[in-house]
Parts: sequence; structure tokens; C-alpha cells
Amino acid sequence: MTQEQDDRVALVIAAHPDDGDFGAAGYTAMQAAQGWTVYFLVCTNGAKGTEDRSMGRERLIALRQAEQREACRRMGARDVFFLDNEDGELSYDRRLLEQVVRHIRMLRPHTVLTHDPTDIIIRDSFINHPDHRATGTAALDAVYPTARDHLNFPEHLAEGLEPHKVREVLLWSTNQPNHDIDIGPLVDQKIHALSAHATQFGNREDFADFARERWKADDGRYLERFRRIELQF
Ligand SMILES: [Zn+2]
Repeated sequence: MTQEQDDRVALVIAAHPDDGDFGAAGYTAMQAAQGWTVYFLVCTNGAKGTEDRSMGRERLIALRQAEQREACRRMGARDVFFLDNEDGELSYDRRLLEQVVRHIRMLRPHTVLTHDPTDIIIRDSFINHPDHRATGTAALDAVYPTARDHLNFPEHLAEGLEPHKVREVLLWSTNQPNHDIDIGPLVDQKIHALSAHATQFGNREDFADFARERWKADDGRYLERFRRIELQF
């Protein structure tokens, strides 16, 4: 394997099961088809994602993890990792930062995709969930500077986890998109991946239509819109 091929790794860092699919399923499917290895890291256990009062907590966690695994399979992602943080209670602290840095050093992505944590209000149409903001902030801080410097979490070295420089960041759900990816040929695959999350959308018959409209731009194309940061050094 050449150095260039070795570099074709992307890591999607999401707060909850299904966030990474909403944000970047088209990107994931496109890159996977081109030979990239795409991993998912889900930072909470998904334990709050139901309106079904008869649903047990442990059952919900297990179901949502299984759904995310199936969604990743449908997108062509290689693997998904889950952190044990409580859904709805994620805060940005050293523990979360260490967990994210550990996965960046282990998986060594060229590109990291995550929530844009910059704003609380997105496009005047929804509120950026606090778990999303904590996840995006931890991911950005992990990319720069924490994962790059061996003096941060030096205990990783003893485990063979070397410092790592991420080259590109793509932020979804952003007020400042500067990088559009045309997912026209992949929109059905994206909806198929999202449909794996039966606990979230299983009783919505209109889900496919809703989803298709959501990614349709004014010019009729289907776009995933990111704020892209290319790290220069
Ligand atoms: Zn979420």
C-alpha cells in the first residue's frame, strides 16, 4: 500500500447514533466507494432517543447501537466505536477530550467530520443540541492541538498511540458552509442508511420524502454542505 492510499482514512465524530448519517452519509458512501476507510465514533449511548415510555433503557442503548452498525454497513463505513457517555448530559471536559484524542491517534484519519459547535442557532431553523456542541468542540480541540503533541495525554505513548496530525476538517449543520458535496447519485443510499434507525424514524411513513427534501438545494441538486478547514501545517 502506498503512502497516499494509507492516508485515505476519514473519521466521523458524532454525538448520537444517526447524527453522522444525517451529517455525512453521502460523503461516507462516496469516499468508501473510492477506496477510503471511513470510521464512526459516537460519543453518547443514545439512551434518550425515544418517545416510547415502555422502552427500557438498556434495550434502547442496544437497539440504537445495532441500528448505527447497520447504517454504517449501508454507507460502506468500516467500523463504528461507541463511548459510554450519557445521552443529553455530555459536557466538554478532559475525559471527553481524552476519549476523542485516543480514537484519532488510533485510527489516524486524514479527514475528521463532526458537528459545527460554533453557534447555538443554526440557519434560524433549529437549535444546536448541547451534546452536538460538546462533541464538535472536543473534536476540534482534539484535532488541534491535542492529538498532535506527545505531551498531551502522554500515557497514550505507552500504549503505542503516537501523535497524529489531521489534515482536513468538515463540519456539518453549519451557518457558514464553504464546501458542497453533490450527493445526487447517493441520496437514496443516504436515506437507506438513515432508515436503519428504526427507533428514530420507524413510524414515520413520510420519512423518505422528508429526508429527500431536506438535502435538496434551491437549484434542485442534493447537497451535503460543510464548513471545510484545511489545516496548513
Ligand atoms: Zn444528535
